[in-house]
Amino acid sequence: MKTVSANQHLNVHACSLNEYDRQKITISGAIYRIRKLGGGLFFIVIRDGESLIQCKLESNESIISIEEYSEGDYVSITGICQKENRAPHGAEIKVQSIEILSKSTEEMPFSINQKLFEVGLDSNLNFRPISLRHPKQRAIFAIQSAISMLFRQGLSLIDFTEIHTPKLVFAGAEGGANVFKVKYFERELFLAQSPQFYKQMMVGVFGKVMEVGPVFRAEPHETSRHLNEYTSMDLEVGPIKSFEDIMEIETYLLRYIFEELPKFCSAELKLLEVSMPQINNIPIIKMSEALEIISKNRKIKDRSDLDPQGEQIICQYIFKETGSEFVFVTHYPTIKRPVYAMEDPENNEVTLSFDLLFRGLEITTGGQRIHDYKMQVEKMKRLGYNPDDFVSYLQIHKYGMPPHGGFGLGLERLTMQLLNLSSIKEACLFPRTINRITP
Ligand code: ATP
Ligand code: MG
Repeated sequence: MKTVSANQHLNVHACSLNEYDRQKITISGAIYRIRKLGGGLFFIVIRDGESLIQCKLESNESIISIEEYSEGDYVSITGICQKENRAPHGAEIKVQSIEILSKSTEEMPFSINQKLFEVGLDSNLNFRPISLRHPKQRAIFAIQSAISMLFRQGLSLIDFTEIHTPKLVFAGAEGGANVFKVKYFERELFLAQSPQFYKQMMVGVFGKVMEVGPVFRAEPHETSRHLNEYTSMDLEVGPIKSFEDIMEIETYLLRYIFEELPKFCSAELKLLEVSMPQINNIPIIKMSEALEIISKNRKIKDRSDLDPQGEQIICQYIFKETGSEFVFVTHYPTIKRPVYAMEDPENNEVTLSFDLLFRGLEITTGGQRIHDYKMQVEKMKRLGYNPDDFVSYLQIHKYGMPPHGGFGLGLERLTMQLLNLSSIKEACLFPRTINRITP
């Protein structure tokens, strides 16, 4: 029987190069740059998915002719690994042979081997498979990958169960007109605006659940903070004593993510010169107080929500007062919150809910949900919904649910704010907007 061992061909990756001093190894990757040094000496730098590898070719001593190779060719290189402090990862390969695995047939639409990535957003997105190969673009998504992994890991550590809920759904959970309709055989379904109903159902099963998955919003406009498909990091938990429990969990989780992140992607964080936020206790203010603060700066038209400028004013104020780059704003008006939101028993014009703002932008909405059957049916009727359309969802209320709540944290929004990107599209591999559906 044939067996495959990881080291069988010693096909080594960039980050473990320095373990192979004076050994013959094979690496593979795309030619990132060919540099002529004079005296028949060339550097062939290879990009291997992890990082860059420097390979040295002395063409005088070898039968390899450098003219055969160009940037982008995907090659396999065999040679002797040797220590070299000036090379990435402290080692380089003295080339003995090169095999082309795939020849690039076109010139690159732009250079991906310069330190700076100076390509406009449209070209960046039109040539996404190529632009993402630039180390700085790649770094965004290495960091994003670590964030979503740490979200799941941080919650697993406190006994959350990961769930996977349907994205083809019978009703939009968040209300409003921004749902995509889908023809489903002879019927009509919707693309999920959030996993809301399903994660609540699963609280009745596991108590603490989480999901990282796509959600869809049919917002017919382009802004720097909206995508039509984004990745939502959700949790839902019960029983809770109050909606403040949810904010505590989010504070723990963000602290965990930011403390752990450098262990997984320190090179990328350094490359993008990321300033990591410090999280102690996150300040909490009520929506009514937030509006007071904003009204000192400018006139407020709509007192039911914070607009983008309002979010910025609040964040600047909180940063000045407390040094925190995060702030929870609580008690959003009932008219602005979805049908499942629990109203404040002391004032039913506001809900037991919160948004988390980070560096001037909303990244999370969360709160306590209604767990009582009568209360939920009454609210549905009040808001003009027909409870008969929600029979399967209402099973949870009918057959007993703990007081519970949760939140949704936008992965691209968090990435965008952490990395100081100017558009959310830069924080999404293949963004979907009203004007963009490819690649
Ligand atoms: P906004 O007011 O900014 O349009 P929202 O309040 O409508 O957002 P929620 O339904 O509260 O959005 O969604 C929860 C979280 O999901 C938001 O805090 C944000 O992080 C993210 N999010 C919401 N809509 C989008 C979108 N269109 N594109 C990217 N992320 C989004
Ligand atoms: Mg919101």
